[in-house]
Amino acid sequence: MGSRQEKEKAVNVQVILRCRPFNDDELRTKAPQVVTCDESNREVSVTQSIAGKPMDRVFTFDKVFGPNSKQKDLYNQAVIPIVNEVLEGFNCTIFAYGQTGTGKTYTMEGECRRTKAGSHGQLPPDAGVIPRAVKQIFDTLESQNAEYSVKVTFLELYNEEITDLLAPEELSKIALEERQKKPLPLMEDGKGGVLVKGLEEEIVTNCDEIFTLLERGSAKRRTAETLLNKQSSRSHSLFSITIHIKEATPEGEELIKCGKLNLVDLAGSENISRSGARDGRAREAGEINKSLLTLGRVITALVEHLGHIPYRDSKLTRLLRDSLGGRTKTCIIATVSPSVHCLEETLSTLDYAHRAKSIKNRPEVNQKMMKSALIKDLYSEIDRLKVEVYAAREKVGVYIPKDRYDKEEAERKAMTEQIEQMGTTIETHQKEIEDLKEKYNSQLENCGDLTKRLEATEKTLDHTTRLLSSTKEELKQAHYNIKEKDFIISKQIKAENALTNQACVLRSDLEKSTRENASLFSKIGIENVVRLHKSTTNASLEEMASVDFTNHSSLKQMVAGGLEIASNILIDMEKMLSSHRADIASFMKELRERFQASVARTKETSILMV
Ligand code: ADP
Repeated sequence: MGSRQEKEKAVNVQVILRCRPFNDDELRTKAPQVVTCDESNREVSVTQSIAGKPMDRVFTFDKVFGPNSKQKDLYNQAVIPIVNEVLEGFNCTIFAYGQTGTGKTYTMEGECRRTKAGSHGQLPPDAGVIPRAVKQIFDTLESQNAEYSVKVTFLELYNEEITDLLAPEELSKIALEERQKKPLPLMEDGKGGVLVKGLEEEIVTNCDEIFTLLERGSAKRRTAETLLNKQSSRSHSLFSITIHIKEATPEGEELIKCGKLNLVDLAGSENISRSGARDGRAREAGEINKSLLTLGRVITALVEHLGHIPYRDSKLTRLLRDSLGGRTKTCIIATVSPSVHCLEETLSTLDYAHRAKSIKNRPEVNQKMMKSALIKDLYSEIDRLKVEVYAAREKVGVYIPKDRYDKEEAERKAMTEQIEQMGTTIETHQKEIEDLKEKYNSQLENCGDLTKRLEATEKTLDHTTRLLSSTKEELKQAHYNIKEKDFIISKQIKAENALTNQACVLRSDLEKSTRENASLFSKIGIENVVRLHKSTTNASLEEMASVDFTNHSSLKQMVAGGLEIASNILIDMEKMLSSHRADIASFMKELRERFQASVARTKETSILMV
């Protein structure tokens, strides 16, 4: 369990660099060597001449194999662990990438096309990765005494068209040629992968059978002469080996473990002019470059963690989708020439391969299948084949005229392309939908914030509205009060004016009364004083008449009597004055009461007026 988790971790694509030895032409022309390999330090240095000065560029890879390295060395060090993983139930892919003539096919296939395994099951020293992997697989399965099945497919991708390199030979020559030429459609398998519809799966039981198939398929591979290499391949080839191994659980249940090894020999990576492609082959080179350019773009997108990986832009990248950033364990073998003539392409290959080192895959072991489920699949496959065999034997299949067939095929092809384009559009749309979803979610968040703020504002507004309406009510009341007060004030002013008039009348009455009183008092006072004086004077005069002025004592008495009388008069006058004062006071009191009664009446009048 622990080891499985370990394998599901992200692992970088393994990149191996192989430099071939000088070829005969390069030796004859004594081409200078610009590539040096340091296998122990896993370094490759390329000497360039910049402004007349030699400059070295050094690249480090997972493994480096120099010109003297043997096929066996590369296989033992780099490929054996990968094949072991396939036998454990992983999917693995090995690519060969490089300029035409640098040894891609030599590395992948070697000389097995010409030399089969020896009589003792030994491979020739020049045998490449494919025959060695096949041998390792069968040797391991045999040594384990395992129950297994091995199936292989071999296809070619040329001008963005897939052809089956293992199309059966039993068919008539014309039918075979038709079938070989007929491009096979690439379809979605409904599980996130792709399948090539109608691709022949050959079941093999030993190494020799595979070598025969490989030889047959390789011979069919389209090749075109270029100036660089007479046998250079202008197409990509994909050889796949699928292994099913039976396993028994401790409970006695039978499970099927499945692993797949993809071995890809890519077309030359050089540009059109350098490979010498001319006229009709310009499109061919363009299409091949389209696949390689897309492969480059996919690598860039993966390395730079771009959101959209353009897998769908070429068939090559669709076929290898799981090997680039997926769940397959991937190894790239980049091949270069040591010669100065290939310097530019060598640097481009080294940059490309170095970049690919950063791709991360998450290798995952394939789920084991129940044996019964696998048998069910095989039965349905047998049924399908039976129907096809019956139709061929009894000639009860559908016959359609060639014209119509060609027309329908053309239509089907156009539709397939349309479907593929639609698939690309859907992918782009899905990406857009995801972007929009993200935007929508952020808008939703914003909207949530705004709603909260709106609610708070609404509350404040509500409160303010209520405050405003109560203020309005108060204002209305205040206006009403002001009007009322204005009315009262005007009434009061009127009443005050009436009171003032009445007070004036009263005052004049009072003044008149006072004047009358004063004259009355003066009259009373004068009369009394006069009367008193008169009587006192009369008495004094009578007394003085009887007085003898010569007699001092009688004079004295008379004066004394006079003084006494005068003082009595004064006392009487005082008494009289005080009694008058009391009369006046009571009179004033009466007057005040009358005045107050009059004021009270006036007030009553004013209240009644209000
Ligand atoms: P490519 O597939 O890249 O076009 P090839 O595999 O056809 O190149 O190789 C071109 C030639 O160089 C072949 O004749 C091949 O035998 C030879 N060659 C390539 N790599 C090596 C190598 N490492 N050792 C010996 N010969 C090699």
